[in-house]
Amino acid sequence: MNTIYWLGNDLRIDDNPALLAACKSDSLDLVYCVDPRWFETGRYKLPTLGIHRWSFLRQALQDFDRSVQSMGQRLLVAYEAPERFLPRLAERLAANRLVCSRRFSSESNQMLAEIKVVAPELLIEQYEGYTLLSEAQLPFDLGNLPETYSKFRRQVESVAINLPMNAVTTMPRQSTTGSGLVSESLACDGSDFEGGQFKGGEAAANEHLVTYLNSDLPLTYKQTRNEIDGWENSSKLSPWLNSGSLSVRRVVQRLNEFEAEKGSNESTHWLFVELLWREYFQWLGLQLGPDLFEFGGVLKRQPLTDFSPERFSMWCKGNTPYPLVNACMRELLATGYLSNRGRQIVASCLINELKLDWRYGAAWFQQQLIDYDTAVNWGNWQYIAGVGADPRGGRHFNILKQAQIYDGDGRYQRHWNGNESPLPEDSRNSNL
Ligand SMILES: Cc1cc2nc3c(=O)[nH]c(=O)nc-3n(C[C@H](O)[C@H](O)[C@H](O)COP(=O)(O)OP(=O)(O)OC[C@H]3O[C@@H](n4cnc5c(N)ncnc54)[C@H](O)[C@@H]3O)c2cc1C
Repeated sequence: MNTIYWLGNDLRIDDNPALLAACKSDSLDLVYCVDPRWFETGRYKLPTLGIHRWSFLRQALQDFDRSVQSMGQRLLVAYEAPERFLPRLAERLAANRLVCSRRFSSESNQMLAEIKVVAPELLIEQYEGYTLLSEAQLPFDLGNLPETYSKFRRQVESVAINLPMNAVTTMPRQSTTGSGLVSESLACDGSDFEGGQFKGGEAAANEHLVTYLNSDLPLTYKQTRNEIDGWENSSKLSPWLNSGSLSVRRVVQRLNEFEAEKGSNESTHWLFVELLWREYFQWLGLQLGPDLFEFGGVLKRQPLTDFSPERFSMWCKGNTPYPLVNACMRELLATGYLSNRGRQIVASCLINELKLDWRYGAAWFQQQLIDYDTAVNWGNWQYIAGVGADPRGGRHFNILKQAQIYDGDGRYQRHWNGNESPLPEDSRNSNL
């Protein structure tokens, strides 16, 4: 058996069921496809991959390559669309098996379908490794996914989560060594990365998880997670979870150990509750397929909106009439990260104040966020636009009030806006 392992959002050797299965083979070739379409302007006139996630991803690829080198392997990076590259590679290597982690995005599933058509003789195996529960562990059929998060949470909260698997320690031989098949090798040192505190890869992910759980921060997570700023106020696990450098089951296992050692409380439980949001969006996104990106969303409503490229550009660059929104957008642009509070405020501003089509906001986030996840991003935007699986309807945040509550002394706004006034000039007469 000759196997190709197609990497995606599973850039790790720890708790990686697909990689473990792929290693049961005579030969193994590890491939990551950097899709040129990520850099082209698409439907929303934006490339889908911005500089921050690209740099973070390259660091993760480099780190994975380092890990497998100690097992006699190299990661092959192809700068080509997977559905074109993988069948060709399989033919050249006489590979008869393609293994990958289960894909949750409709685009990736479409690629797999195309590979099946082009290479019908290739055995394709998918293993679940991106979520806490496998589809078989869900206490309902996917077709009967609860229509709201709270119902989902009630049903899955007590389901036993499988223990994470051990890291891969040995690998079969690689068949491509010296064959020149790979269009480009990994040549990155990550030096163009400006995201500051986030460094891509499994080693950095583990270091961050250990640091976070060695502190007492999880004990106060529920009180601090809503803050607009502050490294320590939330776990900052999302970039590593979503690139797959960190297994979500490993996080929960370590969190359980933390609770056993330091005690559990509402806060430690709340971290798990937030991870269930991530879980819910994955299954919802899978069920919605391309409808995840539809203007009318889950509810098939048509929000009132118009399109103004100028207003959209002001929002992207942080030049709106709202200093708090500007600060958030500038942080996002500079670092690729924004707190959950900040994301909610700027999304509400785009939808309710600037009256723009929410999908353009989602597309901007897709490009900018280091922790971009298709289902979580587009699902959250649907919620705020009032077209998502949410009984409460959309979210309209009062920006002035938000500034008073979350940045009362204006420090966050001054940091990102310089001398710009922390309050909009017309705030006294504003009905915001
Ligand atoms: C408009 C909008 C777009 C968003 N886009 C993304 C995205 O592309 N990728 C992403 O990971 N998160 C997204 N979020 C959710 C949330 O803002 C981030 O998960 C969170 O800010 C990440 O920081 P953290 O890891 O410190 O979170 P913590 O508060 O420490 O939460 C722990 C983990 O729980 C999960 N989580 C937390 N909040 C949410 C949520 N609202 N929905 C789903 N999962 C959640 C994440 O995996 C997170 O790492 C979005 C939120 C909004 C409002």
